Amino acid sequence: MSGTAALHDDASGRSGVAASRGIVIGPAYVLRRERLVIPEYHVETHQVPGEIQRLETAFSETRARLHEIREGMKETGLLGDVFDAQFLFLEDPTLLENARRNVQELLLNAEWALQRELRRLEALFESMPDPYIRERSSDISFVVRRVLQALMGREPEGLKNAPPGVVVVANDLTPAELAQVHRGHIAGFVTEAGSPTSHVTIIARSLEIPSVVGVGTGLARDLTDGTVLIVDGSAGRVLIDPSPDTIAEYERRRDQRAMFERQLLRYVDLPAETKDGVLIRMLANVDQVDEIPDALRYGAEGIGLYRTEFLFMNRTDLPSEDEQFEAYKAVLEAIAPRHAVIRSLDLGGEKVPSGLDISEEPNPALGLRGVRMSIARPDIFRTQLRALVRASAYGRLKIMVPMISSLSEVIFSREQLDRVTEELRAEGVTGSANLELGVMIETPAAATISDLIAPHADFLSIGTNDLMQYTLAVDRTNEHVAYLYEPLHPANLRLIQRTCQAARRVGIPVTMCGEMAGDPLHAWILMALGVGELSMAASSIPLLKKIVRDSTAAEGRDLLAAVYRLGGAEEIRHHVEQHMARRFPLEFEQIGASG
Ligand code: PEP
Ligand code: MG
Repeated sequence: MSGTAALHDDASGRSGVAASRGIVIGPAYVLRRERLVIPEYHVETHQVPGEIQRLETAFSETRARLHEIREGMKETGLLGDVFDAQFLFLEDPTLLENARRNVQELLLNAEWALQRELRRLEALFESMPDPYIRERSSDISFVVRRVLQALMGREPEGLKNAPPGVVVVANDLTPAELAQVHRGHIAGFVTEAGSPTSHVTIIARSLEIPSVVGVGTGLARDLTDGTVLIVDGSAGRVLIDPSPDTIAEYERRRDQRAMFERQLLRYVDLPAETKDGVLIRMLANVDQVDEIPDALRYGAEGIGLYRTEFLFMNRTDLPSEDEQFEAYKAVLEAIAPRHAVIRSLDLGGEKVPSGLDISEEPNPALGLRGVRMSIARPDIFRTQLRALVRASAYGRLKIMVPMISSLSEVIFSREQLDRVTEELRAEGVTGSANLELGVMIETPAAATISDLIAPHADFLSIGTNDLMQYTLAVDRTNEHVAYLYEPLHPANLRLIQRTCQAARRVGIPVTMCGEMAGDPLHAWILMALGVGELSMAASSIPLLKKIVRDSTAAEGRDLLAAVYRLGGAEEIRHHVEQHMARRFPLEFEQIGASG
């Protein structure tokens, strides 16, 4: 849900942006980033006892630190099996035994001795046929890395090393870091920087990790690991070391909230149709193929946005055509017989993979992003299009091009797609005959010339995250100006309306895939503006379906007319909030004041 809470601090808590809904209670894990370079050297015989002593001290320090975190978990009832497994490795005497022997017999320094034992164990686990046992290799790496850090006097680094079930607290997180996290790994997160539509927030929403971002500086510095935190991702509030009474109160709210969510599941198989017969299609935004089963469980009628950037992240090379083909085919097969909109690469800005040599730009959000990069590097674009066309034979594919700001970019994209399709046909490979090409409307330029673009597109998809950033001149990642980032700003509404009119004139559909689409606060306004498909974090679909089904399109039109009579963005927001909260008191109480 988007929305900002008033920035506010006190000794027991912080307020920030309500980034991803839900309440979580857990021990803090402060993320500190340092690269670990393991020193490897030989020691003299007389140094052996000293090295062994260092090893033993590092083991006991690590035990004590993990114990602190574990205690915090116990208090909140979050203690998980994975964490227990890691403890077992640490307690197992053979790990220390073998490292000690490496010092004594091979005269290795303590770090090298332990690292060598880790490599041996990793190789051993890797060779195990049982996947469960193979997975335990990551537990042992986690434990050994913690001991190595203690040996070297370093803080633990990286999100991957966070113990499961913790609330991660960081100055900021990158999309690449969060992309390494699996659903259920971390319980929640709090960042000092960030805003409702920064990519990290968007990923948190699809992973359903309750989070609050933009709480301001100093939190990570002042907090010790294991401190109990309550993260209220709906209200945008973080409570530090709360009293047992407060914990009990939040547990009650969390359980109530869980019950409300369960009740909403009744709507998943029903169409989002208003009482007076207007049908809105509900689609899911996904970043990873393994999110698709959940998207279907929440009632997604297709995928409205699959961001391909994540295939290019956390690696040093570019994914090959075959690798991309397999990934896109997997998406289409998982969502079949429904459709998937797969977006061509939108690298640049916040998302820069290490495999691509992009020179630093002074103003990346205004630089070589999206289709601009595809024009600058047609080799990358064409490889992706080839993979997409090949994959289209395996399901219902729609391709979408991001960051369009002129007609020539649409025409370029269409020409490249035609050329690649021709080329593949000559090679004897045919894709789907119904492959569609859509255009993202996410720059004010594209929205303004949507009447010129629409005749060249099979569909339009409004990306409000960027559309607002460029229209309102507000950096979508900057917490200091997050309060200006208002989806209901009349400038934004007019551009959406203009886009819908342009699409209607040539008879093509309009989707909205920016975060504005998943906020129930906006549902009536978007219906009235003429957006026919809403694509959002899948977990928001049941609530949106309920809101639409309990409404009439006429009510939406009346609200829009009232909004158009008001001038100021704040005034409009206030009016819509009051109106929707009166109309849906239970829903708006459950999802939090800021939606
Ligand atoms: C958008 O800009 O609204 C959008 C959906 O794209 P992204 O968030 O990936 O920039
Ligand atoms: Mg965008």
